[in-house]
Amino acid sequence: MASQCIFCKIALGVDEKTKLTYEDEEFVVFPDIRPATKHHYLICPKNHIRDPKLLTRENVPLVERMLAVAEKVLEQQGCSKESKNRRMGFHWPPFNVVQHLHLHVIVPATEMSWLSSLIYRPNSWWFATSDWLLEHLRNLPEPERTTYDIVPPPGASTG
Ligand SMILES: [Zn+2]
Ligand SMILES: [Zn+2]
Repeated sequence: MASQCIFCKIALGVDEKTKLTYEDEEFVVFPDIRPATKHHYLICPKNHIRDPKLLTRENVPLVERMLAVAEKVLEQQGCSKESKNRRMGFHWPPFNVVQHLHLHVIVPATEMSWLSSLIYRPNSWWFATSDWLLEHLRNLPEPERTTYDIVPPPGASTG
């Protein structure tokens, strides 16, 4: 963990002010300290991953698991029916205040103030929706495979 990272502290349960909404082996979920609407949660991997810009194609399943957790939490909070009225996404660097990957889940999106709608504006320079991020990661080029030339051991007969 990064020692000064507040989200790492929350994940470890060392931050007494934060009450977790949900926890499993991989993620913690807690309310945003400045909620944009009635339901505003942060889905946060326990591992310190700095930001969404560092994710690669291999992290598509991670993002999908974050979305599955979001679904679970909304269900538990009784607002899974508002499926059209959600805002889900990530601050895009350098506009992320906390340098620890987290998914914002905001319901109902239509009840956000003017300022919040601006802060969480879909696919602006500063906020990427989860749909956009998944699409973006899937379209990243395959990581380069390293191929090794097979070198015969010294003295091996080449004939
Ligand atoms: Zn962290
Ligand atoms: Zn945030």
